[in-house]
This record gives sequence, structure tokens and C-alpha cells, in this order.
Amino acid sequence: MIRESLLYLSDHPRIREIVSELPAAKRVTRRFVAGETLPEAVQVAKSLNAAGLSVTLDHLGEAVSLPEDARVATVEAVRMLETISSGKIQANISLKPTQLGLAIDESLCVSNLRRILERARELGDGDGEIFVRLDMESSEFTEQTVSLVETFWGEGFRNIGTVVQSYLHRAPIDIDRLVSLGSRIRLVKGAYRESDRVAFQKKDEVDRKFVEQMGTLLEADHCAAIATHDEEIIAATRQYAFEHGILRNSFEFQMLYGVRRDLQQRLREEGYNVRVYLPFGGSWYPYLMRRMAERPANLFFVLENVARESSLKEVSGPLALGSGFVLGALATRLWRQSRQREDR
Ligand SMILES: Cc1cc2nc3c(=O)[nH]c(=O)nc-3n(C[C@H](O)[C@H](O)[C@H](O)COP(=O)(O)OP(=O)(O)OC[C@H]3O[C@@H](n4cnc5c(N)ncnc54)[C@H](O)[C@@H]3O)c2cc1C
Repeated sequence: MIRESLLYLSDHPRIREIVSELPAAKRVTRRFVAGETLPEAVQVAKSLNAAGLSVTLDHLGEAVSLPEDARVATVEAVRMLETISSGKIQANISLKPTQLGLAIDESLCVSNLRRILERARELGDGDGEIFVRLDMESSEFTEQTVSLVETFWGEGFRNIGTVVQSYLHRAPIDIDRLVSLGSRIRLVKGAYRESDRVAFQKKDEVDRKFVEQMGTLLEADHCAAIATHDEEIIAATRQYAFEHGILRNSFEFQMLYGVRRDLQQRLREEGYNVRVYLPFGGSWYPYLMRRMAERPANLFFVLENVARESSLKEVSGPLALGSGFVLGALATRLWRQSRQREDR
């Protein structure tokens, strides 16, 4: 219920406005977000590289409704590529197709993406082009996102790939399509609010599907990215690789910045490739809400900081807890109202 409510709030415009303005929320966001600007993200990326971890840079932002905003996101993506190249950073980039205009007009998104892929190709250092991954958004965009990869692959681009969400019923079909191209796949459980018509709802079902699909991706041997913080799934991946003679450096584990740093480092020390997904930028609200939905303890972390900022240190724990219940109740109420409207 809390997960559903927080996911509902993640795209509620009024709540977004209020939370985005809270100084304490901005401050605690730094745990999950590298900063508001590219130079801040570069600084963090370099320190992660120094610790042996590679990086995926993500300029935060979701669906745009104006072509001009999609153009701005495209310019920013090119700037990220140029910075990676000039700074010799061990990084690639991730983009949300709706940031490039997919929700406005597919042809706009295609032309913006072409510009980015061409620049990523030019900036290749002889060791390969810079890789561009399309993050997977809600199921409304899954078909178009997979098709975008097929379209550009058909045009000869080899520096594009996307993500498969194991909670979707359609995931095995998408894996077949993408594996048959040879493109890289990042496997995740899925972070959006989806109905039972399109997605498994129970954690054990999603986990079981993830493990099955992980095996398919490791066998396909196209630089699979196993993106999870779930220790049992990580153990299952290691076991699968060991039993099937799959080399540790033929795939990578991916985790989010600020989540399970101990595990990231441990896997790296054991010789696995580990990549950290490093978001930056001002539009951090929906990203933060999805992280809280994944682990409600993060909600209390945020609320405790809000309480602390109000100089009420001695009551910060109870206040955080109280605020948590209030926010939880508000979220639940809004979510229920929206469900009733949808059912009508
Ligand atoms: C690199 C990367 C890229 C991603 N890209 C996408 C994408 O393109 N599209 C998409 O829909 N989803 C994406 N996700 C999010 C993903 O779908 C899950 O929502 C998220 O990874 C949480 O699931 P989990 O596999 O870690 O397992 P869970 O079962 O959610 O968690 C397992 C354990 O991990 C820890 N944990 C998990 N999340 C957090 C957190 N936020 N804070 C603290 N601890 C946590 C907890 O201890 C938890 O018990 C991405 C995730 C990663 C790591």
C-alpha cells in the first residue's frame, strides 16, 4: 500500500511542487543524486571510477510536453557525452525516451536520439563508441522503446540498448527481440505503478521471473547488466555464472548511487564489473519518490531530516514518525481517490 501510494505521489504535480521546494528534501536528496549540475556529477563519477566502479550518467527529467524542452534535453545529453570523452571518465549515459519527446511525437524523439547516437559514435576512443541506454519507463512506452532500439540497430548503430523490467508479462518477448539483435540489456524488477493486466504484483513472482531472465541474458553473452540490490538474486547470478562457466567480466552488476555501497565495493573486490547509476539535475522529485517506494525506510530518513531542519531535534524521531503516518495517510487517500476515478 505504501509503495502504491508513493508511486502515485511521484507524478502528482501539486505534491511535486511542495516537496521540491523543501530545503531539507533537497539536502537529503544528495544521498541518491550526485548534485544539480554536470560538474558536480563528474566529480562524483571520478571518485567512483577511482574506487574501480564505472558509471552511468543520468540527467534527471521525465516526460516533456514541449519540443523545446526535448531539444534542451538533447543538448544536455550531448554535453554529457563530450564531458565523458574529454574527462576520460569510465561512463556511459542513460536517457528517458520521453525526455527526448516520445510522448509528444515519436519522430521528434527519433531525430533527437539520432543526434545523440551520432555524437556518441564520433566520440568513440578506438575502444568503442560511447554507449547510450534508453531507460525503461511505464508500460505505456515499452513497445515504442523496444522499437526504437530495433530501428537504430537496423540503421547500423551498435551503441544503443535498453532495459527489460522483469515484472512485465511481456518481458520474455522483449528479451527475445533484443537478444536476437545482439543489443545490451539491463535487467531490472521495474519501478512504476502497473496494473495486474500488464505486470506481476507479488515480489516472489517478480523475483522468480528475474532469476529466469537473468539466466537467459548471461547465456546470450551481450554484456548483460544485472541491475539489483537484492542479495539473493545477486547470489543466484554468481552461482549461475559459476555453474555455466560464464566469465565474471562478461557481464556487470549495476546499482543505484547511494544504495548498498558496501555491496558495490564487495563485488568489485571479488572481481565483478560494477556500474553505478548516477543521476544528477534539478528534477529529482519523481526519482526520489520511486526510491522511497522501493524502501519505505528511505521515507523516514527524509522525514527525519525535515524534522531536524525545523530545529526540533529532541522530537525529531517521533515527529518524523508522525509525519510519515500523515504523508502515508495523505498518499493513500489520494491514491484511493484516483483508483475510484479510474474505476468509474
Ligand atoms: C542501475 C539501475 C537502473 C535501473 N533502471 C530502471 C529502469 O530503467 N526502469 C525501471 O523501471 N526501473 C529501473 N531500476 C529500478 C528497479 O526497477 C527497482 O525498482 C530497484 O532496483 C529496486 O529493486 P531491487 O532489484 O533492488 O530489489 P528490491 O526487492 O526492491 O530490494 C532488494 C533489497 O535492496 C535494497 N534496496 C532496494 N532499493 C533500495 C533503495 N531505493 N534504497 C535502499 N535500499 C534499497 C533493500 O535492502 C531491499 O531489501 C533500476 C535499478 C538499477 C539498480
